[in-house]
Amino acid sequence: SLFLSLFLCPSLSSCCSYVGRRGNGPQAISIGKNCDKFGIVVHELGHVIGFWHEHTRPDRDDHVTIIRDNIQPGQEYNFLKMEPGEVNSLGEPYDFDSIMHYARNTFSRGMFLDTILPSRDENGIRPAIGQRTRLSKGDITQARKLYRCPACGETLQESTGNFSSPGYPNGYPSYTHCVWRVSVTPGEKVNTEIGERR
Ligand SMILES: [Zn+2]
Repeated sequence: SLFLSLFLCPSLSSCCSYVGRRGNGPQAISIGKNCDKFGIVVHELGHVIGFWHEHTRPDRDDHVTIIRDNIQPGQEYNFLKMEPGEVNSLGEPYDFDSIMHYARNTFSRGMFLDTILPSRDENGIRPAIGQRTRLSKGDITQARKLYRCPACGETLQESTGNFSSPGYPNGYPSYTHCVWRVSVTPGEKVNTEIGERR
């Protein structure tokens, strides 16, 4: 039977999820109006598999500045920093590109008022934050570490692409186990070519 517990969403039309698994049954996430987009659903599923928001990491003050005056009254709790005992980033660096990172104006009093800004430039430009299009490299690395997935291989969903053994064209360690999954919509064809990369 469906396990339902008190599900705390700021409002009915919002997008939210528990962090981690609750109970033993199916678990609801809220995909409200305007939330039914791939990147937002992936973000909510990120919470389900155990991710908090990137900007709540205990070391966030080394990477971003929170502009409290611009936060909508009542939403300040969304910017609370977590304690080192509450969250473990598994040694992964702070990730501006994470799908779990807020945008610069999330919970802002006005669209053009920033609530959170990267505190340093990368290659002379301010890193973009808040993307909701894909998992970042860091998101993938961290999820792999957390769930002890094979160190190599991936799920390929693009219409074309390629993959090769780790470190190609150099050798790879003996007994390396990699899994590549090619995922397609029913009716689509998978075409593979095996050969040397030129
Ligand atoms: Zn979230």
